[in-house]
Amino acid sequence: MADDCLFCKIVAREIAATMVYEDEDTIAFADLNPQAPVHILVVPKRHIPDIVALGADPETSAALVRGIRAVAEEQGLSDFRTVFNTGAGAGQSVFHVHAHVLSGRPMSWPPG
Ligand code: AMP
Ligand code: ZN
Repeated sequence: MADDCLFCKIVAREIAATMVYEDEDTIAFADLNPQAPVHILVVPKRHIPDIVALGADPETSAALVRGIRAVAEEQGLSDFRTVFNTGAGAGQSVFHVHAHVLSGRPMSWPPG
């Protein structure tokens, strides 16, 4: 657990969130500021700052993808968008890697 990391505190249940999924390696919870009718964050329990660092950890990478798959299955999502913001300039505000899973409305392209 990293000091002062919001998502580590959610993993540790020190900060409340609306949990939608948990397994040995990942948790998923509702985004506080949803950008679609379904907006879930899938997060590894291990503190890893971003997808670049995640790429150096094959086991956690695979676990996060399994978590996304499980959330999509459990929520009955056939069409959904998965977003990893990387760096403040791309919109990353929490530096504990997380997949945004967005669904329930048409998704335009290119993204903003
Ligand atoms: P990003 O900007 O890609 O780093 O995504 C961080 C996301 O975390 C944003 O979509 C926020 O709305 C969301 N968020 C911030 N604080 C919380 C919280 N306490 N519980 C759930 N989601 C949060
Ligand atoms: Zn963390």
